[in-house]
Amino acid sequence: IYTLAIESSCDDTSAAVLCNDKVLSNIVAGQKVHEEYGGVVPELASRAHQQNIVPVVEMAIKKAGISKENLNCIAFTQGPGLMGSLLVGGSFAKSLSLGLNIPLIAINHMKAHILAHFIDEDGYDKPTFPFIALTISGGHTQIVKVSSFFDMEIIGETTDDAVGEAFDKSAKILGLPYPGGPLIDKYAQLGNPKAFPFTKPKVDGLNFSFSGLKTQILYFVQKKVAENENFIVENLNDICASIQYTIIQILMDKLKLAVAETGITQITIGGGVSANSGIRNTLKEAETKYGWKTYIPKFEYTTDNAAMIGIVGYYNFLEENFSTSDVVSKARIEF
Ligand code: ATP
Ligand code: FE
Repeated sequence: IYTLAIESSCDDTSAAVLCNDKVLSNIVAGQKVHEEYGGVVPELASRAHQQNIVPVVEMAIKKAGISKENLNCIAFTQGPGLMGSLLVGGSFAKSLSLGLNIPLIAINHMKAHILAHFIDEDGYDKPTFPFIALTISGGHTQIVKVSSFFDMEIIGETTDDAVGEAFDKSAKILGLPYPGGPLIDKYAQLGNPKAFPFTKPKVDGLNFSFSGLKTQILYFVQKKVAENENFIVENLNDICASIQYTIIQILMDKLKLAVAETGITQITIGGGVSANSGIRNTLKEAETKYGWKTYIPKFEYTTDNAAMIGIVGYYNFLEENFSTSDVVSKARIEF
C-alpha cells in the first residue's frame, strides 16, 4: 500500500510516501521567516505553506521512486494546529484525492506524534499495546494511555504552558534566539544540573503546569543580572543545565505516577521536545533504574513530519477508515 502523507499544522511543510509501514521519503521544508519575530507568525506560515506544498509533495513522490498513479491513499493532518496552515495541506490533500480518485484519510496530529513509533525502521523496536505515551511538543504536554491504534485516552496534560514553551520561553529570558529549546539542550550538556535549584510546581494527579517555572526563572535571572550584569554569559551552561534538569524531574515524577496508577511499564515519548538529549538519557536510565521498557523515536520522527501522519494513515487504510470530501480542518480537535 502506497500512502502519501501531508503535514502542515504549524510552520513546517512536509510530505512523505510510505510503502506499508516503511518510509520511502519524508521531506520537510522549514520556514526561516519566523526567526526574526521570536515565534511562529500564523499568516506568514500559511503563505509559506502555499509556496512549499507543490514542490514538497512532488519531491516526496519523486524521491520515493513511484509516480502519483501508484498511490493508494492520501493522509493529511486535520488538526490540531494553526487554521491557516492546516487549510493549505487539507485543501491540497482533498483536491489530489479527488483528482486521483483514491481515499482521503484525516489524521489527528497528536495521535501521529504517538504512533510514529510504528514506522518500520532498522534498529528501532515497536511498542506493544497497552503503553504509556508522553507527548512533549511546542503546543502540548500529554500523558496518554494507548490501548490500540484507535483507542487512546489522555490521562494527564498541561494546565497552562507546554514543555516546548517552557524551554523556548526560558531561552528567551536568557536572550537566546527562537526556538531556544535545542540551544538549552546544547548548553545544558556542558553545565552542572544542580548549580541553581528551581522548585517544581505542585500539581495534583497526572497534570502539569509550567508557567510558574517560567516566572521563577525570570525573577531569578533578573535578580542575578542586577547583581552582576555578566551573570548570564558567565553561567549560561549551568543555568541551562539547571532549567533542563528541573523540567526533566517534573516529567519523570508524573511518569512514575502514571506507571504506579496504570501498572503499565512500557513508555514511549514523542513530539519535538523528545529530541532533548537529557530526556533521552534519563529515559534510557529508567530502564535499569525502574525496570521500564522505554521507546525513543528516531530524531527525524520527533519534530513535525509527514511520515508520522503516513503511518497512522496506513493503519486507518487497513480498517477502511476513510474521510469524506466534506471533512474540515480543525484548530482544536478531540482525541
Ligand atoms: P504541537 O505538536 O503541539 O502542535 P509543534 O508541532 O509546534 O507543537 P514540535 O515541532 O513537535 O512542536 O516541537 C517543537 C518544540 O520542540 C519547540 O518548542 C522546540 O524548542 C522543542 N525542541 C526541539 N528540540 C529540542 C531539544 N533538543 N530540547 C528541548 N526542546 C526542543
Ligand atoms: Fe507537532
